[in-house]
Amino acid sequence: MNTAGINPKLISLLTGIPLDEVRQPVTVEALPGKWAAYASEAHKRIVYLVPGHTETVTCRICHRPAQYDIGMVLVSRRYSVRVKKTRSDLILKDSFQCMGYFRCRYCNGADSWEFPDSFYTRLIHEMLAVRSGRGRPSWVSITTADLFDGYMYSFATDAEEHFFGLMASQGETAYLWNRLGNLYFKSRRADLAMAALEKSLSLDANLMESDFTLGMILIQSGAEEAGARYLRQALAKAARYERLNANDLRDLLAHALIELARVHVKSGKAIAMLPSPEEWAEARNSTTDAGGDSDSHWVVAISGRSDDPTTFYPLAEKYLSPAQLRSLSNPSRQKKQHKRR
Ligand SMILES: [Zn+2]
Repeated sequence: MNTAGINPKLISLLTGIPLDEVRQPVTVEALPGKWAAYASEAHKRIVYLVPGHTETVTCRICHRPAQYDIGMVLVSRRYSVRVKKTRSDLILKDSFQCMGYFRCRYCNGADSWEFPDSFYTRLIHEMLAVRSGRGRPSWVSITTADLFDGYMYSFATDAEEHFFGLMASQGETAYLWNRLGNLYFKSRRADLAMAALEKSLSLDANLMESDFTLGMILIQSGAEEAGARYLRQALAKAARYERLNANDLRDLLAHALIELARVHVKSGKAIAMLPSPEEWAEARNSTTDAGGDSDSHWVVAISGRSDDPTTFYPLAEKYLSPAQLRSLSNPSRQKKQHKRR
């Protein structure tokens, strides 16, 4: 089981239970929704966007050291140049970012951490190796990460608190829960991501970016049938989605189609690739719609190459509205139609 910590505020926001009544210690069983407990159990199978990295760190609240998956460590280019010049690790103290989400195993705090001197020595060594461009995989990257609103954070737990602050001041929205879900997934916590993404869909069923991420995580963790269902919902909801520009939306749909094609073939066609009439109706919150997808979509799909999303653009464009198609900077389907005329 994944024993990493959970913020009691998250449970309070997800469930409506007052913060002082959230049962301690907080376990994954307290997370509501269909998939959090499953994702926690599947943690080791999931291929995260950011690799893991374990360090022994001391909690400054209870002064107890323990090993944590701190995720990838990011150092900004500005700091990396200064360190190279001075060879001093002092510059690095409190000026790096940890991508992994972790909380103290003993007091569940996440406010302040003490890294051992040996960490800074290894960090500098690794940073110089990365800068020299030897190209091997590393737990350090010379870059920075910020949130959708430009907020820079040191730890994923800071970013989480920033989201809770936004929810308190602006109200909880499906969009904020979606972005928080993405943060949790980037922070290597699929269990928290699932709970946040499901919450996002409960507030706005049209937020298809949440369907997309839920589907991708489920497929990666082996729940292919359930994951494909979310991806098909993402396809069926795309034409009414306004949060992404048309090019980014098409790219997202192309990635969904790559996964759907792969799962469809792997399952011997038992798992459908494209939305059924019932799924279209569900996506439109109506029972009257009978649109479904014809076989011609499938013919286009199998000509796509699984390593190149652009080969799925013609099929992805079938899920865009006429207005979205007009705003594409490089439409593929319309070009072909012009040629034919
Ligand atoms: Zn502690």
